[in-house]
Amino acid sequence: MSVPSQMKCLVKETEKEGYDLVTRPVPKAGPGDVIIKIDKVSICGSDINLWKWNDVAKVIATIPFIPGHEATGVVAAAGEGVTELRAGQRVAVENHFYCGSCYLCKEARGDICQRMDQYGHGRGTDQGGCCQFSRVPARFCYALTRDLTPDQAVLLEPMGVAHNAVDSIDVKGEDVLVLGCGPVGLFAVAVAGALGQSGGGGGEGEGEGGGERIHASEDAPSHKQHIYIYIYIYIYIYIYIYIYIYIYNIYIYIHTNTHTLKHIYICINIYILFSNLSFVSYYSVFHYA
Ligand SMILES: [Zn+2]
Ligand SMILES: [Zn+2]
Repeated sequence: MSVPSQMKCLVKETEKEGYDLVTRPVPKAGPGDVIIKIDKVSICGSDINLWKWNDVAKVIATIPFIPGHEATGVVAAAGEGVTELRAGQRVAVENHFYCGSCYLCKEARGDICQRMDQYGHGRGTDQGGCCQFSRVPARFCYALTRDLTPDQAVLLEPMGVAHNAVDSIDVKGEDVLVLGCGPVGLFAVAVAGALGQSGGGGGEGEGEGGGERIHASEDAPSHKQHIYIYIYIYIYIYIYIYIYIYIYNIYIYIHTNTHTLKHIYICINIYILFSNLSFVSYYSVFHYA
């Protein structure tokens, strides 16, 4: 593929709304880099902030930059040391430039790398997809192994967001509820279907899964455990009240030297004991029924 010397691109170089369309030299591939002839760039929610250059943009981006972090294209040239990609290969760009050496990267959590740079946001690179040719480290390019159209391939980045979320839980055979069906939510529905959620409303994303529904967590206490818990609580309360009344009896006896009140309290004691036991047995029967 012939690579021209000049190209058109969008840039933001000053703190203002919008982008400038400029002509620039096509970047050269450094060691480990590839030059991609960009086919498509999709516009993310964050791109709206970057275009406006609002307070959110000032947190997530650094001037200067070429916008466009969701990009796909064809490798036009490969730099020194690049062995896994070759010219003509179609790729999708991984926009999260994780460091690969921090604690989280070593724990396979490059998605929340502590030293994350970001393509299209001016973080660690001024490159982005809104240009004709873009320089990207080869390790942040995914070679397309299927015959995806450019319109499909450019959506691999937002689909990856949904996939990462759904893949972190085991949806196989489960019912899945996705709240908030914007683009990433719709991808979550499709990914859950592909990963085998139990179906029912999956639409095109409905998978072949279809397992049993699980109604309750296995960790929830059983009915039998509930009964023991209630028996324990009532015995505890009974003993507490009994001790209280007994001490009160002694107090009354000492101060009045009368047996009458003592007898009344013993009757109350017996009543409380039986009412407790009857409640416990009622509860047991009710839950066994
Ligand atoms: Zn995005
Ligand atoms: Zn890292």
